[in-house]
Amino acid sequence: MVNAPVLVLNQGYEPHDVCRTRRAIILVLGGKAELVEDSRGEIHTVSASYAIPSVIRLTLGVRRPCHERRLTRLEVFARDGFTCQYCGRHTKDLTLDHVVPRSQGGGHHWLNVVSACKNCNRKKGGRTPEEAGMKLLSAIRTPRGYGYHVPDHYFYAHEEWQKYLPQQLRIIPGFQIAGLVPEESL
Ligand SMILES: [Zn+2]
Repeated sequence: MVNAPVLVLNQGYEPHDVCRTRRAIILVLGGKAELVEDSRGEIHTVSASYAIPSVIRLTLGVRRPCHERRLTRLEVFARDGFTCQYCGRHTKDLTLDHVVPRSQGGGHHWLNVVSACKNCNRKKGGRTPEEAGMKLLSAIRTPRGYGYHVPDHYFYAHEEWQKYLPQQLRIIPGFQIAGLVPEESL
């Protein structure tokens, strides 16, 4: 339990980092952070007991380094508004499509990946849009960076953390995590 991950928010209640429970408790006891969510019960030592934090907030200002956004399925779907970039359908059955297929030398980077519904992905197969007679609905762009870097999988695993995500990245109702395609099928 002392190793469980804890979400660290900055003063503005934005995700800043992830730390382990032991460190979070030290920060809180030292007055450097305050408890925001403590749904995990209590930890007992010989002399005292402490609420186990799930989310803490730093009481001092922190600089916001600008990280480049990680290329993950969720980030790509969010960039594309959870919409298939070929047919415009808004669906939870999205897949990641490499515009120029990897088999044809297409890279795994922001400007070569788009959200595609399963139908369009199947139809396109291992071809470029030109070869498949399909057209992208909008220009592909690299999303602006956020000021933090907390890997997606933490937000999958900790539902109570999601309200601290920027609006466009929240797992919106209807977009179940289970509906996302497994990593190996990309
Ligand atoms: Zn489609």
